[in-house]
Parts: sequence; structure tokens; C-alpha cells
Amino acid sequence: MAIRININGAIKEDAFISVLDHGFLFGDSVYEVISTRKNRPCFLDEHLKRLHFSAGEIDLTIPFDDFWFGEQIDRTLADAANQESYIRIVVTRGVGDINIDPSTCHSPLVLIYVTPAHVYPIEWYENGIHLSIVSVQRNSKNALNPSIKTGNYLNNVLAKIESGRLGTDDALMLNSLGYLTESTTSNFFFVRDGGLMTPSLDCGILAGITRDIVIRLSRENGFRVEEGCWPIEILESADEMFLTGSVKHLMPVTRLDSKVVGGGKPGPITRSLICLYENFLEQFE
Ligand code: PMP
Repeated sequence: MAIRININGAIKEDAFISVLDHGFLFGDSVYEVISTRKNRPCFLDEHLKRLHFSAGEIDLTIPFDDFWFGEQIDRTLADAANQESYIRIVVTRGVGDINIDPSTCHSPLVLIYVTPAHVYPIEWYENGIHLSIVSVQRNSKNALNPSIKTGNYLNNVLAKIESGRLGTDDALMLNSLGYLTESTTSNFFFVRDGGLMTPSLDCGILAGITRDIVIRLSRENGFRVEEGCWPIEILESADEMFLTGSVKHLMPVTRLDSKVVGGGKPGPITRSLICLYENFLEQFE
């Protein structure tokens, strides 16, 4: 079980970056988190595509192509030799003057972290987690578009802190119009009248790779899926809720603020989708 950091192609057990890196100074960076199956990266093409999208949106040129990323991820995974890994790619603006102008940054820094896989407590899957709706709003699309996966995560950090203060496991955020968006590191789904519902990309969320697969698998298996913008009140009539993300996969939610959801146990549709998703991942074996 080891941690390895690949820094611009050099693999280290520990790595350090400059205090003048704009990723550190201003959160001027983009990133991806990738999980593994049989220690192979899952949905690598989709993650690299989103990494390039994010970089393009902040006018950052990544100096390496997907072939390079594939090779470096393989080398770093082999060197760490974990059973299953957590992979984090970070591309920062690089070193520049101490002001926000990125024009003084001439070489982006590319980091690939490989650590042992993060594993959530099994009880969270068996019993579901407790979410709270927090007062911190999700960033507005016109301020820092949540569809760009940047290293500037303070919005979500603040939401996480608030959810902790409320004694809950994670936060559900609304946008400035009061519509449901997502959790701090996951997309949000709920079940109502037997159909799945999830905030649409228009609400200001990350276009989650797991979200996308869950929508596709649901439709292919006869579940109704609706994407839209909904106020919080709609959750009063929700029978089931869950979160999605590359590391957590599908995580049932059985309490929202003081409300017990669906009798306090993961519901039948959530459980079916967990099976469908886990079976789908078998393709990586
Ligand atoms: N929303 C946010 C804010 C996230 O940080 C993440 C995790 N990357 C997700 C959703 C889930 O995205 P994915 O399924 O691509 O991991």
C-alpha cells in the first residue's frame, strides 16, 4: 500500500511544489479523480476529456496528450503496486508572479497522485447517509461554473464545514434561484412516483461521469429519468435519494435534515441501480 506522486513525468514517494505556483496561491488549476477496478483506471477517456474541457474553460494549455497520461498513469500505478488505487490528476497554472494575472506562468505543472483506494464505511451503503441542506449556495454558473472541475473548491469546502456543524455526513446545495444542485463531491438523485429525478446541468452542477452512466443504465433498464430544476419542497414527496461519484459509486441517502427518507433504509430502486452500476463495472475485469 503506497503513495506515489508523478510530477511532470517523474515518479516520487513524496513531492513538493513551489509556493509561487498559482494553483496553490489562487486555486488556479483543474483536476480529475479516477477510481480503479483490478487496479486499472475506470472511464479514463471520459475523465481525460473532462480534464481537457476544464482546462480549455480556464484558458490553460495542458502540455501532454492522452497517450502520455495513459502511460504515466500505468507507470505510477505499477510503481505504487496497490490492490486498488485512487488516482488524482491535477494540472496547475504553474509558477508565476505573486498576482492573479496568469500571463507570467509559462509552465503548467502536471501531477498524478496514486494512493490506496479510498473506501467508505460499509454501513454508509447498508444504512444510507445523512445529508443537510446548507445555507452555502453552489457557485453560480456566471461566477465559477460548476461544470468546470477546478481546484478552487472553497465553495464546497464551506458547504462541507456547514454540514459537519449540523452533525450530518454531507451537504446538499441549492443555487441562487433556490433550485437543487449537488453535494460537495457528488451528484444528487431522488426517486419520486417510481421515476428517477436529478438536477439538470442547467442548474449549475458538475457533469458527473457516474451521473451520466447512471442515467444511461437507468433508461436502458426501463426506469424513467427526468432532469430538471426543482425547489427543495419537491423532496418532501421523494421516496429515495442517493449520491453518485467516481469513488463512492452510488451512495444511498436515508436522512435529509430532520426527515427520514423511505423508512430509513436504501430503497428498492436505489438498490437495483447499485447492482446495475456494479455489474457495469465488471467490464473492467
Ligand atoms: N459533483 C462534484 C462537485 C464533484 O466534485 C464530483 C466528484 N468529482 C461529482 C459531482 C461526481 O463526479 P464524477 O461522477 O465524475 O466523479
